[in-house]
Amino acid sequence: VAAVASVPAQAGDNPTYTNPNAPIDVRVNDLLHRMTLDEKIGQMDQISVVNMQGDCQWSGGAFTESCLNNVLVKNAAGSVLSGGGAGPSVNTPENWATMVNTVQQYAVKNSRLHIPILYGVDAVHGHNNVLGATVFPQEIGMGSTWDPSLVKDAGASTARAVAATGIDWNFAPVTDIARDQRWGRYYETFGEDPLLSGTLAASAVKGIQDAGGAKNVAATVKHFAGYGEPGNGHDRVPGDVSLRYLQDTLLPSYKQAIDAGAKTVMVNSGAINGIPATASHYLLTDVLRKQWGFDGVVVSDWQDVRALQTSYHVAADYPEAIAKAVNAGLDMAMEPYDAQGWSDGLKAALQRHLVSVSRIDQSVRRILTLKFRLGLFEHPYVDASKADSRVLGADTGLARQAADESQVLLRNDGNVLPISRQAKKIVVAGSYADDINDQVGGWTVGWQGVPDGVTLPGTTVLQGIKKVAPSGTQVVQAKTAEDAVTQAQDADLTVVVVGEKAAAEGSADSPRPELSADQQALVKSLKATGKPVVTVVLAGRPLVLGDADGTQGLLMSWLPGSEGGNAVADVLFGAVNPSGRLNVSWPKDIGNEPMYYQQLPGTNAGPESSYDADYPFGAGLSYTTYSFDAIKAGSATARTGDTVKLKVDVSNSGDRAGDLVVPVYVSQPSSDVLAPSRKLVAFTKVHLDAGQSRTVALSVPPSELAVTPGDIDGAGKQQVAAGPYVFTAGGHTVTVTMK
Ligand code: BGC
Repeated sequence: VAAVASVPAQAGDNPTYTNPNAPIDVRVNDLLHRMTLDEKIGQMDQISVVNMQGDCQWSGGAFTESCLNNVLVKNAAGSVLSGGGAGPSVNTPENWATMVNTVQQYAVKNSRLHIPILYGVDAVHGHNNVLGATVFPQEIGMGSTWDPSLVKDAGASTARAVAATGIDWNFAPVTDIARDQRWGRYYETFGEDPLLSGTLAASAVKGIQDAGGAKNVAATVKHFAGYGEPGNGHDRVPGDVSLRYLQDTLLPSYKQAIDAGAKTVMVNSGAINGIPATASHYLLTDVLRKQWGFDGVVVSDWQDVRALQTSYHVAADYPEAIAKAVNAGLDMAMEPYDAQGWSDGLKAALQRHLVSVSRIDQSVRRILTLKFRLGLFEHPYVDASKADSRVLGADTGLARQAADESQVLLRNDGNVLPISRQAKKIVVAGSYADDINDQVGGWTVGWQGVPDGVTLPGTTVLQGIKKVAPSGTQVVQAKTAEDAVTQAQDADLTVVVVGEKAAAEGSADSPRPELSADQQALVKSLKATGKPVVTVVLAGRPLVLGDADGTQGLLMSWLPGSEGGNAVADVLFGAVNPSGRLNVSWPKDIGNEPMYYQQLPGTNAGPESSYDADYPFGAGLSYTTYSFDAIKAGSATARTGDTVKLKVDVSNSGDRAGDLVVPVYVSQPSSDVLAPSRKLVAFTKVHLDAGQSRTVALSVPPSELAVTPGDIDGAGKQQVAAGPYVFTAGGHTVTVTMK
């Protein structure tokens, strides 16, 4: 290894990098120049607080001195994470803040150059790691709100809670497109549509990074790229996609979120087209850095550098795996091995000339830049004594609003909803009716969901219904299927709450994403009573309903968070006019997987007939009547580089105020490359009072019309083709011809 000059910090020295008024690049250069090779290598290493693999024993927030010293001083790790919610044994915000401060203090005080660490956590629906933190709906539900400003506010609320516990790096938002309901991480996404997902992810990034909390927090666009394309439906497996599908469908959401200023990106654990993303120079450098100009930090996913050798077998040994990842463009390895192993491995790679010091310097520069940008050198700690008051019960109103807006009313035969105030008796059935832990899903307190023996503070559907029901309405819980059928006989209505168990990642994979047989049987027997039945689904994906389909009412509530029970009741009793719209397609049959609305035309069946959805993308009812009255274009022709300006007239002809999602889809009467029969190109959500009409302005940038041209696998850059484009809003269309 070539000798690397390093200038030690002297006592009494006031190094430039410690000067908060010096420009960041000057501070970074000064600091980098003082670092030893070992210190640089350490910066690229992110160690799990739980495992601290072989380095030390950690137990519920108590560290031994030798453990901290080994990870933070001897191996100079640049970052620590609490994966899957690993926190203090007594899970309070104050204890979290104390734990994080302890780690931070050790790094700042004892490392030779006093470099603070980045502390990372998955706060994917609120600060879900901390017991008592407000839990928002999972991303899949946030996606059905179609409300970017709400998603931004939820991101900001989350970041304030994260910051209050001393943490400065949030591994959110998940920006992957999910089109396969078998995949266990489907619920962690904003859904199947590139524009909707990208817009909401961009909003989440802004919310997280501009939250104005006790510390700055960096957002993470994950998992770059194509993680939502698991070939066989299992988590973390290779996927094969054409360049066309990659560019036109999978990449745009990440680009939107990165353009919003995301400071970090996490790499897909899977492989795309035969190359693990962690070793993909194409994705991590050509696309991300060169095409998109991303200048932040790229972190691997859990143990994925090692996986290049041990799982994917694209490296003969660990040093080669490290070199492949670093040369591809990776800056930091999450849980690379133990800290010592990372350091030894990277040094061995240097010795074998598999990787260069200048490449290492480049990554360290990015990591230090992030630390300076976040203000960590000036503000490494938080006041732990303020954490409880900042986190516990914060923003429950916002969480309820988010849960309210995420409710998608899919059926309301004979206006069975809202429930009449005259109803004398309501039966609440189903094993998910009074189950707060499954209602919030995975990544809540524990990785696989709230651990047994812990009850999350929050409101279940049964509790919500009891709270919101008028005083004259008796609410009866039926605990068994038999009891439900008996009780339903003299009830005005039965609300049956069905769902799926909380789980995460591979454990949540399901080869049969359908409602369990016993739940289908329960709903079927309730239907047979002839009495009105409303089905409420608490799940992270559109479970095939089978025999449970066809009740008078059907409400998709997703995994609505700690305020979820209130939100369901708000909609059932009409306190809230439902405004959620499906952000995914609901299959009739599991044989239709994967199912998404952007179907391509075929010779036998038209695109719509091969799209056999039970409830299509965009579906959702309300308690008023809206109409789409017209769509107009700013001009009938445009240049291919122009943004198309559209106006859509909408009105609320009913007698209740509400919020209406206004989507605009495009189709091409003729195109060189197969074009989906409908592609979302613009949307907004507007408030309409009863009787109100509005004209809504929307614009479609060229990026929404661009596709990858060329034969077979596509050739090169996306382009907007000349020719007519038909824009549709409701039943109305307008044609704009691109020249
Ligand atoms: C997940 C990531 C997560 C990381 C840290 C991994 O298993 O794939 O999404 O950020 O763990 O918890």
